[in-house]
Amino acid sequence: MRQHLTRLLADSGARPVVGAEDGGALRAAWSVDDADYALVATAASALRQYLAAHGFARIGVCTAGNCADVYLDQSPGGRRRFCSVTCQNRTRVAAFRSRRAGTG
Ligand SMILES: [Zn+2]
Repeated sequence: MRQHLTRLLADSGARPVVGAEDGGALRAAWSVDDADYALVATAASALRQYLAAHGFARIGVCTAGNCADVYLDQSPGGRRRFCSVTCQNRTRVAAFRSRRAGTG
């Protein structure tokens, strides 16, 4: 994963630059030569920053049946299982209907 992320950053052409706010204040920023790579560079840069600060421990893949979305678990207990409330509710409804069909 680490190598893939590094390669993704390199392939996107993301490079650090010194930007300027409207008032002239300087800020750290990233730039790409090809605007088509801006989204990839932004996502990879955000993931790089998150991983450097928090590691992989709180990154998970949704456990809902037809979902492979990835989430960042920021819950206090670190026991998140779903990417969204929608997936959580769909899984609960499916489990309820399965139990009901088994007993009815
Ligand atoms: Zn999901």
